[in-house]
Amino acid sequence: MWKIEPPLQNKAGVLHIGNVSTIKLGDKFGTPLYVTDENRIRENYSRISESFKKNYQNFSLNYAIKANNNLSVLKILKSMGSGADCSCKEEIMLAKKTGFPPSDIIYTGNYNSDQELKYALQNRVIINLDDISLLPKLLQLGIPKMISFRVNPGLGKGRYSGLVFGGKKTKFGIGESDVIKGYELAKKAGVTKFGIHMMAGSAILDVNYFRDITEKLLVIAGKIVKKVGIEFEFVNLGGGFGISYRPRERDLNIVKVGKEVGMLFKRRVDELSLGNPTLMIEPGRYIVGDSTILLAKVHSIKRVKGRTTYVGTDAGMNTLLRPALYGAYHQTYVANRLDSKRAEIVNICGQICENTDIIAEYRKMSRMKEGDLIAVLNAGAYGFAMSSQYNSRPRAAEVLVRDGITDLIRKRETVSDLVRHQTVPGRLGK
Ligand code: PLP
Repeated sequence: MWKIEPPLQNKAGVLHIGNVSTIKLGDKFGTPLYVTDENRIRENYSRISESFKKNYQNFSLNYAIKANNNLSVLKILKSMGSGADCSCKEEIMLAKKTGFPPSDIIYTGNYNSDQELKYALQNRVIINLDDISLLPKLLQLGIPKMISFRVNPGLGKGRYSGLVFGGKKTKFGIGESDVIKGYELAKKAGVTKFGIHMMAGSAILDVNYFRDITEKLLVIAGKIVKKVGIEFEFVNLGGGFGISYRPRERDLNIVKVGKEVGMLFKRRVDELSLGNPTLMIEPGRYIVGDSTILLAKVHSIKRVKGRTTYVGTDAGMNTLLRPALYGAYHQTYVANRLDSKRAEIVNICGQICENTDIIAEYRKMSRMKEGDLIAVLNAGAYGFAMSSQYNSRPRAAEVLVRDGITDLIRKRETVSDLVRHQTVPGRLGK
C-alpha cells in the first residue's frame, strides 16, 4: 500500500490532490503536468510564519521567488502577507507585477551587472550585496537609503553538496572582516539604514543548524554595530528550511525552529545591543515544495533480462532537473493504481538523450503498464522553475487546484515557443 499524506488523498485507489482526481487532471490538461494545491501553500505559509511570530513579534517573511515563480503562487503569497525575495531584475519585475510594494522586496543577486544594480536602485527595493566589490559600483549609480550585505558565516549545510552555500567552498557571501569594511564605506557615503543577511544552505531538516547559524550571524552583527556605530533594521536568516522528501523521513520541526531561533534572537539582540531589528526569513522550498505533484504518463517500458527495467514517461530531466542535478530523491506513486502492491524494481526515466535522464532510480513500484500515470511528489520547489526546453521539448503546463476547482495557471508550451525568439538570416537561403 502507498502511504498518502495531505494534500494528497487516496480515493478508491486513485490519487487526488485538492479534491481532484489525478486521472481527470491528466485527461483534461495532458502530461507532463505540474499540479499545485493552493490550500497547502497557505497552510505552509501560516505554519512557518506563526512559528516565528509567536516567539518574536517583529518578524517578516519574504518568499524566495526562485523556488516557484508562477504569478498565481506569488498572488497567493502576497495575499497571505508575504514579501518577496528576488535574485535578479526579472524576479523584481514579477514581484512588482504581482503588486508587492518596493519596501517588501529584497534583492539578493550575485556578481550583479551595473544595469541590474541601477534597476534595483531606481525601483527602491532593498538591495542586499553579495560582495563588497559591488558597493563602489552601486554608490556611483546613487546612494540608496538602506543597504544590506550577505554574510558568509563561515559554515553551511545542505541536503546535497550543491546546496551548501556557506563556508569556504562556495561562491556566495562576504567574510566577517570584509563585511565590516562594507558597512563603514556605506555609512561614509551617506547610507542611513542597514540590514544584514545570510543564506548558508538549503533543504535542511536539523533544528540545531538554524539555532547555531542564527547565533553566528548575531555575533557578527554585534561586532559590526560596535565597530561601525550603526543599527540594523533587519537581520535576515535566509531560507533553507527543509521538507521531507523520503518516505518515513521526519519533517523539520518548524515549531521548534521558530521557538529556539525566536527566543535566542530575543535574548541575543538584547545582550549584543542590537536594538529591535526585524527577524526576517526568506524560505522558498518550505512554502511551495510539498504543494505540488508532477504527473507523467508511462509510454514505453523496457524489460530486458539482466538489466533494471526502465519505465519511460513523458517527464524527464527537462521537466524536473533535481534528480539529475543533485541525485535528488522524489517519491513516486502509480497515481491511477494506488492500491496495487509494489512488486518490481525499476528506473523511471524521461525521453531525453542523456543517461542522467532519470526521475527515480532503483525504485520498487507495482508492475507498471503503458498508460499508467506516475505522480512525482514534492515537485513544487525548483521543479518547473528549473525546467528547460532541452531536446527541443516544450515546457509542461501548470494547474492550480483548490477544493475541487481547477485552473490552468501556465499553458503548455508548443513548438512556437521553441522558435519564438529565433531569426534565421536571409543569406542562409529559404
Ligand atoms: N534566499 C536566497 C538568497 C537563496 O539563494 C535561496 C535559495 O537558493 C533562498 C532564499 C531559498 O532557499 P530555500 O528554498 O532553501 O528556502
